[in-house]
Amino acid sequence: MTETNNITVAYGDGIGPEIMEATILILKEAGAKIAIDTVEIGERAHNHGFKSGVPDSCWDIIRKNKILLKAPITTPQGGGYKSVNVTLRRALGLYANVRPCVSYAPFVQTKHPELDIVVVRENEEGLYAGIEHRQTRNTCQSLKLISRRGCEKINKFAFEYAVANNRKKVTCFSKDNILKMTDGLFRRVFDEAAACFPDIENDHLIIDIGSARLSNCPEDFDVVVTGNLYGDIISDIVSEISGSVGLAGSANIGEDFAMFEAVHGSAPDIAGQGIANPSGLLNAAVMMLVHIKQPEVAEKIRNAWLRTIEDGIHTGDVYDEEISKKKVGTEEFTQAVIARLGQRPQQLTPANYSEAASKVVNIDVKFNDHVEEKKLIGVDIFFDWQEGNSDELSEKLLAVTEGTELKLQMIGSRGLKVWPKDDGSKPIESEYWRGRFFPEGAEKKSSHGQIIKLFSALDEAGFDFIKTENLYSFDDVPGFSLAQGE
Ligand code: NAD
Repeated sequence: MTETNNITVAYGDGIGPEIMEATILILKEAGAKIAIDTVEIGERAHNHGFKSGVPDSCWDIIRKNKILLKAPITTPQGGGYKSVNVTLRRALGLYANVRPCVSYAPFVQTKHPELDIVVVRENEEGLYAGIEHRQTRNTCQSLKLISRRGCEKINKFAFEYAVANNRKKVTCFSKDNILKMTDGLFRRVFDEAAACFPDIENDHLIIDIGSARLSNCPEDFDVVVTGNLYGDIISDIVSEISGSVGLAGSANIGEDFAMFEAVHGSAPDIAGQGIANPSGLLNAAVMMLVHIKQPEVAEKIRNAWLRTIEDGIHTGDVYDEEISKKKVGTEEFTQAVIARLGQRPQQLTPANYSEAASKVVNIDVKFNDHVEEKKLIGVDIFFDWQEGNSDELSEKLLAVTEGTELKLQMIGSRGLKVWPKDDGSKPIESEYWRGRFFPEGAEKKSSHGQIIKLFSALDEAGFDFIKTENLYSFDDVPGFSLAQGE
């Protein structure tokens, strides 16, 4: 007998409450064995005085139940509180965001009838750490943090997912031609994982041409694994070109917790009108049922939903006069799915989740575990300095560092080397500078003490240093990028 699972449910913002009500009703009618605890998180919790959008009491419930079914949550744009979605993913260690997307041609209008793609998006790292600083009046920065451990977890997950779900190919998207350290690491770890799955085809595309091909020929792709921001963007593209952003569900998987949600957002433009498509959240709930080992109920719901789509009963976002039979609102669509529980689609491929739910794939992936020798060899110091051009800055820095052990080797501005100049070009004007300092002598080795003395000299000379990056080598390989032209 299937045991009852305790799950936490968050009704979210915008269209969230409407589509969650619809989803829970279908789950209950289908006989899902779930006991629900409800939490209020997001905009409403924030408006009730909980700054982070997640009250402490909710964390206890979410952690106790381990499984969260979440409707979309509104995140203010360009200011305001941080994204509750990102907070949940980070706090619960939900490192893998799985977004399957499939076309339902000829029943839902799409230019890509063969589309059947799963985007596996890294969910915890990259720019979504949201570590941002305003450094000068003119310049802000955002830190992209990528760890080997994070890359290992997501790439292993993508290949194991492919095996468990009978997928044939995993494609990696990165920008390792430009971001050689961060995306370069992601790509290298992908190659290491790929080598341990000889039965799964693998390839890599640079994210720009990869996205272009994905939107033009999605039928060439199977599983796509990529970083956080890239994955966020391409999964919306894929779900939109499959027919509607309102159709796809997603799973956020971690070692201890899992969260299931629609791919789309809270759609405030149509909230409260009773016209939202509940399919994205319902498909997420289907993924949840497979995850908690209730594949029969998952299949029953998915097949009834496929039959509803086949019968041409469509919400406004997918309705097409030539294809659809009836345009319905959220409630009528929900009742149509409930009326078809127990039926199967006649043309679309019926769901079969029992195998994937029972298959445990845990391959011992041999990642590179060599521990390199780390050496401090110099320092990059960034300045807000508006008193002259690059040549004048070099003169000042050379004078200041005359008595220090660390010597100026290069000045850059926004990634471009601007001093020393060997091409005879004019000095440049900027307010955002980087000085690169190394000790003199053949033995490349520096110390924190040398850096502190350099800081003191710069401070005495009145420099506004806005940021420091120590320069390390790993087994004598530089662990930092060169400036353009360096
Ligand atoms: P959105 O996905 O909410 O809406 C984009 C468009 O698609 C809108 O025209 C909307 O009406 C339509 N749409 C979306 N879902 C639909 C559905 N189920 N049925 C019918 N039409 C649907 O994207 P947005 O407008 O950029 O974002 C709105 C808010 O949602 C923002 O605050 C954003 O931060 C948030 N958001 C939350 C999540 C999440 O909770 N996981 C994800 C994405 C965006």
